[in-house]
Amino acid sequence: MEIGKEVKHEGRQETEHKGEDEEGHHSEDHHSGYKVGNVQLVEFDHHFLTSHPEILEELVHLYCSIWERDDNFGEYRICPRHKKYFSYEQVEIEGVSHCPDCGTPLEVAWKPEEVKKEILRDAKSKDFLGTLAIHERHVQGFAWAVFLSFDDVLATWGKGVCNQLKQINPESPVVIYFNELAVTKEHRGKGIGTALAKKVLSKYS
Ligand SMILES: [Zn+2]
Repeated sequence: MEIGKEVKHEGRQETEHKGEDEEGHHSEDHHSGYKVGNVQLVEFDHHFLTSHPEILEELVHLYCSIWERDDNFGEYRICPRHKKYFSYEQVEIEGVSHCPDCGTPLEVAWKPEEVKKEILRDAKSKDFLGTLAIHERHVQGFAWAVFLSFDDVLATWGKGVCNQLKQINPESPVVIYFNELAVTKEHRGKGIGTALAKKVLSKYS
């Protein structure tokens, strides 16, 4: 996704994260991988995704279905001309099908083909570590982080944030941006989000 999009995903992490701490029964088995109950956490990178196209398809589908219905952002449909988003409620309940400003028919906001390219691009970035939550061979959650240069941070969040981050670790040339974390509704509240987050962050600690 574009850098601008990544900023907004930060809020999404919070939403997905809540309530998954309480009863996570984690067990680590170095031979079969990390598990939360009967959900397996599987690390992935660019090579993994390109050699498991069915998993990539599922990940893309899950990604689109989660973010298009996320109430914090309301990005169900988009006016391709103004890049203005419309929520599920606006489209499906209020019946908005065209942009009120320009009359352009609204399009799906999260297009699988575009999302697939963006995920593969992220997965190619330096020191990428993604983790999937797999239950009965199906993707039920995901998390990943990317490295951003201070130029990226400056362009996205502006000077204030950039300077604050630089003060935390003046030696570091980059920022780790934990931009994606989600778990399907059916698997929330079991500690999977927490385990995904820990798995991703463990790479950088
Ligand atoms: Zn418009």
